This record gives sequence, structure tokens and C-alpha cells, in this order.
Amino acid sequence: MPRVNRYGFPVTALGPGRRLAVWFQGCALACRGCLARDTWDPGGGAEITVAELTRVWADALRDGADGLTVSGGEPLAQPDGLRDFLAAVAELRDDLAPAADLLVYTGYEPSEISDGTALAHADAVITGRYDVTRPTRLIWRGSANQVLTPRTPLGRDRYGPYLDHEPDRAPMQVAVDDRDVWFAGVPRRGDLNRLRRELAARGITFKEVSWRG
Ligand code: SF4
Repeated sequence: MPRVNRYGFPVTALGPGRRLAVWFQGCALACRGCLARDTWDPGGGAEITVAELTRVWADALRDGADGLTVSGGEPLAQPDGLRDFLAAVAELRDDLAPAADLLVYTGYEPSEISDGTALAHADAVITGRYDVTRPTRLIWRGSANQVLTPRTPLGRDRYGPYLDHEPDRAPMQVAVDDRDVWFAGVPRRGDLNRLRRELAARGITFKEVSWRG
């Protein structure tokens, strides 16, 4: 059963169009400067069955989702849950919305992924650790070493135009739930500290932030 940090729809800052985003819980890679330290604890977040998560995907497809993004945390730290979830969402996608694509983020390099079974249904992957010393303007990537790789005809169609795309600003979204203010997207270096300073100047301060230990 996958353990997830959260999920949300529609997310527009982690892949093309309006997407269901699912953040898996747990990451042992400990990249320096990671912005999502709240996803590190493998016992954090909450377990959810593949069936429940697939129902969320079905609802998103009915609401016109263009795709699914699985991020983290480290999705490949839960290979069985990831494999089963992607297989279920791919089957449903094929029935309901064949043009909805599946994108997976992983901190592992392709050479470190010995068994790609868990990624079998991914149309595109973004691979590699976050390297705080290598800032980038490339869309959806946090550092210049991270590589966006389409894996299927749909992935090539959907992501081909974005391989070298550098937007003026990194797409970001802010959402509020009953517990947290949370951000979706891959900010550029300094964006979150700038936001914190801007809010502080208006009298709003964060008690805890996920980008500091
Ligand atoms: S940047 Fe990604 S891979 Fe690196 S520690 Fe954070 S969640 Fe893990």
C-alpha cells in the first residue's frame, strides 16, 4: 500500500496542463538543499490503498485531467506501490482519456535504476538528485543535472517541446488546506526565501518550512 505525503488536483506547475499530483512519502537520498524535507520520513504521511488512489485519479480524469505527476519523496523507494499504482492508472487512462500522460520524478540516475518495472507505464521521467550547486532555468527541473526523458510516443509528443524550455518564471502554485500552506512546482534558487521575506514584510511568518531541517 503506497504511503503518500499528499495529493492534489488540479496542479499546473509539475508537467503540462491540469494534473493530478501525488507526492510519495519517504526519501533517503537527503539532497543538500532539498525543498521537501517533510517527505523524507518513511513513516510520515499516510498509507492509502492503490484502489483509493486510483479513484482519485478517476475523479481527476472525469474533471478533465491532462495527466498524472508522481513526485516525492522518492517514488522508487516504494517500488511495489508505485508499480501497482501506475499500472492501475494506466489501465483507467487507456479507457477514459488516452491522451492523459504519466510523469514520474525520481532522484535516482538512470544507471541506478536496476529494475525499471515500477516505471513501466511512465510516459516520461525526470531523473537525478537535486544539486543545489547547479541552478537551472529549465522548466520542471530543480537543478541542471536533472534530465527529462520521454519514454513513449505520448511522452515524446507531450514533453518533446519542453526538453530545453526555459520559461521567464518557474511555474509555482500555492494551496491552503486545514493544516498547511503548500507549494507545488519546482522553484528556482532563492524563490522561496524571497517569498518568505515578502510575506514577513507583510507580517506573515511561517512556523515551520519544508525547505529547512
Ligand atoms: S530533492 Fe527529491 S530526491 Fe533529493 S532529498 Fe529531496 S525529495 Fe529526495
